[in-house]
Amino acid sequence: MALATALLSTASAADTLITNANGIQVDSAGRLEHFTGLLVGADGKVIRLLHSRDPLPKAAVTIDEHGQTLTPGFIDAHGHVIELGAHALQLDLVGTRSLAELQQRLRDYAAANPEAKWIQGAGWNQELWPDKRFPTAADLDAVVPDRPVVLGRVDGHALVANSAAMRLAGVTAQTPAPAGGEIENGVFVDNAKALINRAIPAPTDADLDRQLAKAQDILLSFGVTGVGSMSTALGDWLAMKRAGDAGRLNVRFMVYADELNLLKEAPHPTPWLYRDRLRMVGIKFYADGALGSRGAWLKQPYSDQPNTTGNRLHSDAELRAMADTAAAAGFQIATHAIGDAANAQVISTYEWLDSKYGLNRRWRIEHAQVVDCADLPRIGRGHMIASMQPTHQTSDRLMAEKRLGLARLKCAYAWQSMLRTGAKLAFGTDFPVESPNPFPGLAAAISRQDINGQPPGGWFPEERVTFPEALHAYTRGAAYAGFAEDRIGALDRGKWADFIIVDRDISKASVPELYRTQVLETWVGGKKVWSRPPAASAAPTERGR
Ligand SMILES: [Zn+2]
Repeated sequence: MALATALLSTASAADTLITNANGIQVDSAGRLEHFTGLLVGADGKVIRLLHSRDPLPKAAVTIDEHGQTLTPGFIDAHGHVIELGAHALQLDLVGTRSLAELQQRLRDYAAANPEAKWIQGAGWNQELWPDKRFPTAADLDAVVPDRPVVLGRVDGHALVANSAAMRLAGVTAQTPAPAGGEIENGVFVDNAKALINRAIPAPTDADLDRQLAKAQDILLSFGVTGVGSMSTALGDWLAMKRAGDAGRLNVRFMVYADELNLLKEAPHPTPWLYRDRLRMVGIKFYADGALGSRGAWLKQPYSDQPNTTGNRLHSDAELRAMADTAAAAGFQIATHAIGDAANAQVISTYEWLDSKYGLNRRWRIEHAQVVDCADLPRIGRGHMIASMQPTHQTSDRLMAEKRLGLARLKCAYAWQSMLRTGAKLAFGTDFPVESPNPFPGLAAAISRQDINGQPPGGWFPEERVTFPEALHAYTRGAAYAGFAEDRIGALDRGKWADFIIVDRDISKASVPELYRTQVLETWVGGKKVWSRPPAASAAPTERGR
């Protein structure tokens, strides 16, 4: 053992050689590049890619991939990191088929989490239960009488609280419901939810640390090695720094602060910290809400509610002033815009910034979902980044048709048009709104079809992108969107050896197969940081036999 260790440490280079891989990435010209292996230096960076006829270099460690498919780690350009971990650690009630099943899951969760002072969960839907009756405070008291319990309905518009939670919130049978809300037997609807939610204590540092650790585990299990961390609050940022100090950052976070709240803590963008694992790069703003709740700000009224055009969150002058403050401090700006009016406002704001600060500060439009076709070319002309989420298209399709009508959908979720007008495309998922799994995103991007193949032929199929274009948007494009293309997003010489091993050749897989791709191993900086547990990886093979 001692001898082996000595040999390793005195080898001419402590390099790692990965061989016999079915390597796939997009090259700098946007073409698919195939390779068979890579040489990784002791510093965790790529020394070079190997192609089939290259002689094998000497290395301290050689790993044979036996023909398995290897690609760069995915970069999700837009996700909510702490929320991902927080949701995963809460009681999951999605799919409960009866009140009794909800109660059983609650009983199990309470027993498994004795330290949780408040029990929080979400996902119930009484429409799926035999009698369709809403749960009550008494139903929850019967299971957990001594600790506060708050369980959200699947759509987020209602919650049910137990008596202990109502007591701590100071709510009694006499408490009137606020305007725009309802209270009945422990169920709090819409504006009434705040009466309970404001009593829930803010997460402690230990809570945030656990949420961040959980989020990293989930991301790595899906092959996501880099994230544009959106709407990052001060507590989230400090949790990321604690993880960095403790050597527990395994995902690289490009951080966008929540509005201007972090300017005191980080008055300017930070350099890359913790060997390129963390950087404060920008500020996130909101121009409007979302389409489902008719909060997206439209130029013309909603097709299914003609008395509204949605929620405009800022006047032009206000948004300009906020953006000016961020830009003057050197930050990149990422603004949420869903409706065509919001997109037009954000584009105009960025054009104004360009006139003041010069071109190509990589201003980002988050979602860029519904754009007036007349405004599209302005995004490309301004070298702006369209940060889009392919799985929003498949999830939103039927709802978007109702809200907007077909005519207005011509330049909605318009990935191919974005590319054609010269916009820089970056893909992500907006997790936990959607799963952070990048493979459904790739599949949706190339097909405009959901996992069930709907609709046949694809929805507005002219907006499909090619597989190399989709992979680019999810690797190099997402790195570029976070000013990180010089270090991640591809396995080029000098970049970090962040890569994954997957269970099929994603460049050849059919759309349904691409949807079902599973990650087997995830490597960050030349080190294996996640691998699929043996039982879980055996299952699909056995089913396949
Ligand atoms: Zn988001």
